[in-house]
Amino acid sequence: MTPSFETDVLIVGGGPVGLTLAMDLAQRGVEVAVVELRREGEPPSVKCNHVAARSMELFRRLGVARKLRDAGLPADYPNDVAYKTTMLGTELTRIEIPCRRDRYDAKGGPDTWWPTPEPPHRINQIFLEPVLFAHAVSTPRLTLHNRVEFVDFTQDEEGVSAVARALDGGGTLSFKARYLIGCDGGKSEVRRKIGAKLVGDAVVQRVQSSYIRAPSLLGLQSGKRAWVNFSLNPRRSGSVYAIDGRETFLIHNYLREDEADFDSVDRDWAIRTILGVDADFRYKIITKEDWFGRRLVADSFRDRRVFLCGDSAHLWVPYAGYGMNAGLADAANLAWLMAAHLNGWGEAAILDAYVSERQPITEQVSHFAMNHAHAMAKQRGAVPAEIEDETPEGEAARAKLGRNAYDLNVQQYCCGGLNFGYYYDRSPIIAYDGEPHPAYSMAEFTPSTVPGCRTPHIWLKDGTSLYDAMGHDYTLLRFDPAVEVEPLLRAAASRRVPMRLLDIVSDEAPALYKQKLVLSRPDQHVAWRGDAVPADPLALIDRVRGAGGKR
Ligand SMILES: Cc1cc2nc3c(=O)[nH]c(=O)nc-3n(C[C@H](O)[C@H](O)[C@H](O)COP(=O)(O)OP(=O)(O)OC[C@H]3O[C@@H](n4cnc5c(N)ncnc54)[C@H](O)[C@@H]3O)c2cc1C
Repeated sequence: MTPSFETDVLIVGGGPVGLTLAMDLAQRGVEVAVVELRREGEPPSVKCNHVAARSMELFRRLGVARKLRDAGLPADYPNDVAYKTTMLGTELTRIEIPCRRDRYDAKGGPDTWWPTPEPPHRINQIFLEPVLFAHAVSTPRLTLHNRVEFVDFTQDEEGVSAVARALDGGGTLSFKARYLIGCDGGKSEVRRKIGAKLVGDAVVQRVQSSYIRAPSLLGLQSGKRAWVNFSLNPRRSGSVYAIDGRETFLIHNYLREDEADFDSVDRDWAIRTILGVDADFRYKIITKEDWFGRRLVADSFRDRRVFLCGDSAHLWVPYAGYGMNAGLADAANLAWLMAAHLNGWGEAAILDAYVSERQPITEQVSHFAMNHAHAMAKQRGAVPAEIEDETPEGEAARAKLGRNAYDLNVQQYCCGGLNFGYYYDRSPIIAYDGEPHPAYSMAEFTPSTVPGCRTPHIWLKDGTSLYDAMGHDYTLLRFDPAVEVEPLLRAAASRRVPMRLLDIVSDEAPALYKQKLVLSRPDQHVAWRGDAVPADPLALIDRVRGAGGKR
């Protein structure tokens, strides 16, 4: 007999996005099953190296931020990005980013001032995913089915029936769920099955990547270490990411437009040129992973009870380190919306907000990433011939390129706008009040309480984080205890919308919060604000729970 499983939500794919979404749903009281091709805790290939501050805020809420912060590079390994003629050559400039030991207290850096309880973290996906997996395993209501391949599904008004295959000889498995979410990556079968198409630019860049073991490399380097070393020279420019902080490195060799294909460039020569080592230097290739940088967003993120999330919905060149991180933001969004509905207080229409909110943001981020890829290709292609000369001209060229490299790249390595600046401006469950949202760029943002923006983070008078005080549900932030809020709290209770009142005492509040009341959503975005409870509090509650069109 075919083993069958029943659950509220079936997630296809236990990568970073699937695991995070599963944990968020389960922590909100939803039964979740995840099917994943890989074995329990099996690391992926070396890819993402950056967990954004906004993602770390999410992991803090899920209770796994500290474990992640303790993993990755050695605690004192600088997270700097250094630009050099070669990895062992002359330094042109350096973006200083604190090591994880100093991350919470460091001052004076380009991202140390950010208004967040969880600064960014540099950790490769091979270390990140096992930590997420271990946390997921210990999460109640979450069941992981490893070495299981999703095959197909059907859906009707009541739910979804899915068929999967046990890869180690267990035959067919069947799943019944209220909803199915495809977190199955760039080659998503779920995306194919719902007929969604990736639309955009199929090739923005080609990168010959090599994951190497080179135990003697760091010993040859003089000066301060760096998480990334970018080599800029006329022969071969590329980047070297420290993976374990001791002997493993990921080298990206960016192909030029006139280079026919991945094999047209001698890999060994390119690696040696980027590192700045001679033919005697010994290293071993652990894996080769050559890839196309793309800019593709699915033309649909949903078909009725089936959703796409993460790389299954969008793929782009990982500039600004915002591929996985955009997927994690999808997960944070979809988790609370779906939990609201499954827990009975959100109407089915609340789920419409996922597409209205996330699809435009992913489109915006895809363009930021692609534009940056083009700007960097231009910079790599214009390295002056004299860059390595020990002459006044060489020195002038190094100073100039160093300045330009810093200005261009501090925007992506300290991408405050992508973390904190995006806003939801066309959501059916947000009560807009006419004030325009402040513009944002990859690096720049203006904290704001305009509905749809991220709820500005502040430290409370007792030294705790606003986000810790808010918890998992709607929070009514009150900045003047004299304001009467009972009618709004009663309206929420009458519709079973979980909402708590939080009286704010903070020196930082007056500069950022101009209204006396701000309603913050479970994902820390502003749903509504005002100086008094609205005349029809039930209308506001119905809007934020997806029943706005019903009255
Ligand atoms: C070289 C490189 C560098 C990168 N650097 C960064 C960076 O610095 N920052 C950043 O944010 N992003 C970066 N990215 C992107 C990042 O790796 C991805 O965005 C991220 O892995 C997406 O996560 P995901 O969970 O959506 O998909 P995936 O990580 O692809 O996970 C999908 C999961 O689904 C499983 N699966 C697939 N099909 C099935 C099936 N039929 N049944 C069951 N399971 C299935 C797979 O086994 C896999 O575990 C980089 C990517 C590359 C290639």
